Amino acid sequence: MQKNLQNLLDLQHVDVRLNDVRSRLAKFPKKLTESDARIAAAKVILDTSKAAQVANVKDRKKYELDVESWKDRVRKYRDQTSQVKTNEAYRALQHEVEMAEQEIAKAEDRLLEQMVASEEYDRRIKAADAALKEIEQTERVQRSTVEADRGAAEKEMSELNAARARAVADVPENLLDHYDRIVKKHHGVALAEVRDEKCGACGMIVRPHVIQEMRRADSDQLFHCETCTRILYYIEPSIGSASAASASQAVAGSSTSTPHES
Ligand SMILES: [Zn+2]
Repeated sequence: MQKNLQNLLDLQHVDVRLNDVRSRLAKFPKKLTESDARIAAAKVILDTSKAAQVANVKDRKKYELDVESWKDRVRKYRDQTSQVKTNEAYRALQHEVEMAEQEIAKAEDRLLEQMVASEEYDRRIKAADAALKEIEQTERVQRSTVEADRGAAEKEMSELNAARARAVADVPENLLDHYDRIVKKHHGVALAEVRDEKCGACGMIVRPHVIQEMRRADSDQLFHCETCTRILYYIEPSIGSASAASASQAVAGSSTSTPHES
């Protein structure tokens, strides 16, 4: 393979991995936001339960005061009863006492209801508190995994950026511009291998005389797929398996540079 083409292929191996790392990095903020949202949702449940309990305590105090004030009135009416002179006044006061006692009963009923509700709110607060603690613990673990993944991806990114700088150093500027244009058009993949006389990217037939030209050792011309315009490269079948293995290894991870042989 001619040197320029091999250099571009090395560059492409780096760029494919860079794209992968970039898309992984782009997902981390969303993961962290979602984690925060899960904790916030659990806090809302706890806060709602606590607010209900606060309102309940307030209501209970009010009903307790109601009971006390109605009891005061009953006492007053009873005091007055001993002083009245007429039956009519007596009956009127009796009526007031009955009314006040009904109010006491109502307030006591409401108080009892609130006391029962209060127990339920206590249970809800305890459950919401336990759920929040559990979610916080789960999210802490999740978060540290995400942060570790992000750290690894950032490290990989800076290594790949360095590898890219090395790879582009060997590529003439006009060829690099050309490559970058095709990369933009094809979402990061500018080169396509000719396989079974077809463009490995879009599957269109590559004419035999083009393949013949590409196989000439002294050729320095670049050939493009007539359909997708990607730069074509050809790996001789005899060494194809070895080269393909080194290429896929470069894409998969361990080595970022392949030997520069033409
Ligand atoms: Zn093509």
